[in-house]
Amino acid sequence: MVENGLRNSGIDVIGHVPWGTHFCQFYRTKHDLIDILVPYFKAGLDNNEFCMWVTAEPLVTAEAKNAMTGAVPDLSKYLASGQIEIIDYHEWYLPDGTFNDDRVLSAWVDKLNEALLKGYSGLRLTGNTFWLERNHWQAFTEYEAKVNNVIGQYHMLAICTYCLDKCDGAAVVDVVKNHQFAIIKQEGKWDLIESTIYKQARAALKESEKKYRNLFDTMSEGFAVHEIILDDSGSPVDYRFLEVNEAFCRQTGLSADSVLGKTVKEVLPSIEPFWIETYGQVVKTGKPAAFENFSSSLNKWYEVNAYYVDKGRFATLFRDITERKQTEKLKDEFIGMVSHELKTPLTIIVGALTVAGKDGVTSKQSRELINDAVTNASTLAGIVDNLLELSRYQANHLALNMEPKDIGQIIHSVTEKLRSKSILHRITTEIPPDLPPVVIDQIRVERILHNLIDNAIKYSPSGGEIKVFVKQEDNKLLLGVSDHGIGISPEDRHRLFQSFERLGGHYTHSIRGIGLGLKVCRILVEAHGGQIWLDSQPGKGSTFYFTLSTPKGIE
Ligand code: ADP
Repeated sequence: MVENGLRNSGIDVIGHVPWGTHFCQFYRTKHDLIDILVPYFKAGLDNNEFCMWVTAEPLVTAEAKNAMTGAVPDLSKYLASGQIEIIDYHEWYLPDGTFNDDRVLSAWVDKLNEALLKGYSGLRLTGNTFWLERNHWQAFTEYEAKVNNVIGQYHMLAICTYCLDKCDGAAVVDVVKNHQFAIIKQEGKWDLIESTIYKQARAALKESEKKYRNLFDTMSEGFAVHEIILDDSGSPVDYRFLEVNEAFCRQTGLSADSVLGKTVKEVLPSIEPFWIETYGQVVKTGKPAAFENFSSSLNKWYEVNAYYVDKGRFATLFRDITERKQTEKLKDEFIGMVSHELKTPLTIIVGALTVAGKDGVTSKQSRELINDAVTNASTLAGIVDNLLELSRYQANHLALNMEPKDIGQIIHSVTEKLRSKSILHRITTEIPPDLPPVVIDQIRVERILHNLIDNAIKYSPSGGEIKVFVKQEDNKLLLGVSDHGIGISPEDRHRLFQSFERLGGHYTHSIRGIGLGLKVCRILVEAHGGQIWLDSQPGKGSTFYFTLSTPKGIE
């Protein structure tokens, strides 16, 4: 059975191992060899591997075949098809009576290539070293070291069997050193001894794998590794998901289970052709690509980096940039709106002043033109002031210049300035005569009142009374501005006092504004320790209230 790309060794004490595993068995009797090699080859035959058993005493070819037949009754079928070869060591190691390490090594690789061509998954082999004499020992040890170094690159599994009674201490050390691990029978049970070098290398590899796995799982970018799917002409057409990290699932909203093993086109059938074309270019040229694109399947914007990894593999790095794209869009819209709102009064001012200075303009016309210019200049100043207040607030630079002031006088001066703005509206005030001075930042309170009265004018198209009032309440002043305008529906109220929020409706859109007046009112009222709210009835009018605290001792 193939488990996570591992091969079943068939040997209980070993379990599953990757291709490229090279290990040894120390045996005493022929039964020890049968114990290990028979299940080893049975697992190979069961898993479509080409098997090669090079025998020597004490288990010669005929005995090995017999032992195998016990476990694999239809062995003759496998022998006939050529999936297993059981041959004597002379034939394999010493064809001309001498041992030549390079010749044997390349013969194994040839056998493997033959096996792969025939459709087998790889080569499973064993060689017995009983025949090894002292004069061959050195050459054979060098051969084992070479096998150990190169076998990792091949679809090969190898067991070398050594007779324990023929090995002295130094020989055992040589053997163990040249194999990834050894199996040996101790007190009737097979045990596994790992070579220290291999153990260390494996631990280091595991550690580095863990480090990269951690990095892969904790990185904020989504990462996916794909297998490249080619069409008949060898051109890339699709990309199968082999691995994805947690951020990939977070950024795409797709679970690992729903993508692994599937191709990009299977997971996202309506993926923009641009993505697949770009991936294809990366695979064909080997050059990485980076792009930003909207995925209509996932309804998000992504920044994608695509890389060709190696033959057959391809990787993509994802970053969800939807929020950034939305902010950029809002910024563009905002810049467009503000520039329009600044440009319109400026155009009127320039136009009015140009015409007012021309010959033939009567003094009455010229006065009206100059009035127009002044009104528009004050609108312009209002927008710029609100923008500046917002930016000071956002930069934490909203310092108030607090001084005791007469609120009645402030209300009079603001209403006076705004009265000229509309002949349709009657701005009245209600100010008790005995109000104590209040500690405030005069310019900021003027700004609050200006914004509220300006709105009352703008949003009462049929005119009517706009009342500005003030009342003393305990240790605070309650101020208000009421109008008989279009009013605000209860559902819309939560949107008020936010930056750049304008309530919908045909009427609002025909009125100049950037949706900042109420936000600035709230910032300035709260900076004074007060509160702001409203009462409103759609179609009947609104009253905006705010408080200013008048701490005891200042009254
Ligand atoms: P602007 O007037 O520039 O749009 P504001 O922040 O002053 O920005 O007001 C936000 C929105 O609140 C306005 O666009 C309007 O829809 C609504 N609004 C403000 N004041 C009134 C009012 N007195 N009557 C009706 N609607 C109002």
